[in-house]
Amino acid sequence: MAEANFPLPGSPPPVAELVATLDDGARVKRRFPRMRACNEKNDKGKLCAGHLKRWYFFGEEVRRKFGAQAEVYRCEHCRTLYLPSPEEQPRSDVLCW
Ligand SMILES: [Zn+2]
Repeated sequence: MAEANFPLPGSPPPVAELVATLDDGARVKRRFPRMRACNEKNDKGKLCAGHLKRWYFFGEEVRRKFGAQAEVYRCEHCRTLYLPSPEEQPRSDVLCW
């Protein structure tokens, strides 16, 4: 994995924890700070590394679990969903990354 610039050297390795699994099998994980690529592994243990894109088209279940205004990202490759890291405070609606 390319984990070049994490804020604190020596901080524990980031883990994108699994938050929920939706009824349709989609996994919802928590991003770690500055995470931009999916870290799901497929059956063969190969890293997905798909690009995480802001996603607005989530359905009722996500809305119910995380709210209608939820900030949701989705891997464009394996479609795992990601929630923003709690350490990343949104500065405004325009994310500067
Ligand atoms: Zn993925």
